[in-house]
Amino acid sequence: MSYIIIDNERCKGCGLCTIACSRKLVTMSDTPNSVGFTVALFAEPEKCTGCSMCAEMCPDVAICVIKE
Ligand code: SF4
Ligand code: SF4
Repeated sequence: MSYIIIDNERCKGCGLCTIACSRKLVTMSDTPNSVGFTVALFAEPEKCTGCSMCAEMCPDVAICVIKE
């Protein structure tokens, strides 16, 4: 099983990770972080392949990929 963890406080809401995931598992949340950025949300964990494309695309190193 693979999944990602998004650090909401590092995320600046650029949306690049939503484009990077070919499975469209990452969306944007309606909830802002402490500095007001609307952050990315891992929407469908059960479908994650652990490919790491979302993490590689993130300019703020806000995504950690876990492979178990
Ligand atoms: S690791 Fe791959 S499949 Fe999983 S959310 Fe990121 S881009 Fe999508
Ligand atoms: S690419 Fe990184 S900074 Fe941009 S929305 Fe995704 S997690 Fe946030």
